[in-house]
Amino acid sequence: MDFSAFRDPKLARELIERIHELVGDRTINLMEVCGTHTVSIGRYGFRSIMPAGLKLLSGPGCPVCVTANRDIDHAIALANIDGAIITTFGDMMRVPGSSTSLAAQKAAGRDIRIVYSPLDALDIAEQNPDRPVIFMGVGFETTTPTIAAAILEAEARGLLNFSVYCAHKTTPPALRAIANDPETTIDGFILPGHVATITGLAPFSFLVDEFNTPGVVTGFEPVDILQGICMLVQIVVEDRPAIDNAYRRGVNADGNPVARQLVEQVFEPCDTTWRGLGPIAASGLAIRPEFSRFDARTRFDVPVEATVEPRGCRCGDVLRGAITPSDCPLFGRTCTPEHPVGPCMVSSEGSCAAYYRYRN
Ligand code: SF4
Repeated sequence: MDFSAFRDPKLARELIERIHELVGDRTINLMEVCGTHTVSIGRYGFRSIMPAGLKLLSGPGCPVCVTANRDIDHAIALANIDGAIITTFGDMMRVPGSSTSLAAQKAAGRDIRIVYSPLDALDIAEQNPDRPVIFMGVGFETTTPTIAAAILEAEARGLLNFSVYCAHKTTPPALRAIANDPETTIDGFILPGHVATITGLAPFSFLVDEFNTPGVVTGFEPVDILQGICMLVQIVVEDRPAIDNAYRRGVNADGNPVARQLVEQVFEPCDTTWRGLGPIAASGLAIRPEFSRFDARTRFDVPVEATVEPRGCRCGDVLRGAITPSDCPLFGRTCTPEHPVGPCMVSSEGSCAAYYRYRN
């Protein structure tokens, strides 16, 4: 596909001018929900060229960042099982748990491996039939279909030494929690393009129905993002709340029903805890009882240390849009990508890491 139109500087300039015109002297707070949007907004320097009254706040769309400390501690505890191999995406390795991290445990001799897909973990399970191979599953609607497919594939291949520690989450309940948060004022949501390819638009309509707050799904190229902001600002200014789609080349209104069906076959909704947002009803995914042999939570009873949150870290406030990363007193001082205090500084999609990387 030719992306040149989505990187066209002339188009980008016109959109920026239109956004300035629309905002005028108003104050408007938009939240970009998705971590990839946060990174792109930082990379293209959009925060600094927006009108003074338009604030772009980062949301809870970085899966590593919203993973509760307890889940990281639990994964570390699983690594202590005799013979266990823990497999995980790279971003999870350096996230500090209560007293250690998966990376530190690997250095201490535990068998913890980075994989690029849960299917790599299946191959490891096949090559090590006498050892439990546990995949640390984090991620939103975009990731869960592949995890569901991996579990079905494990069953088809008879890989009973494979299991998943499931810390998956779904996006709409987190947005409901933010829309309900009395300490946060969000006038519109820049909705996640990748997630919407699976969910479609309908799961976000409650924002309009219950909170009178609009949302626009957008893509990840510079013109996509500016177009999404422009559409959202126009909706806010005209006070006609709606859920709209600025990413039609990637997102159908209906999403991907086949992927959703796969997820529904293997997972069911459960209550779960988000870093920063706390426990949210029916915002997580649990492996259905009929697949419990692949559920590391129920298969392995391991002692998990008492949870201790990183001192002074304000990731929770960052993730719900109550502060920006640079408002955290540790930002760029004791907390840097080389020495992260909290997960928002570890993940490549974390708000603090993106603000740090593109701070100039
Ligand atoms: Fe946490 Fe570091 Fe971000 Fe502060 S700058 S909120 S300590 S990750």
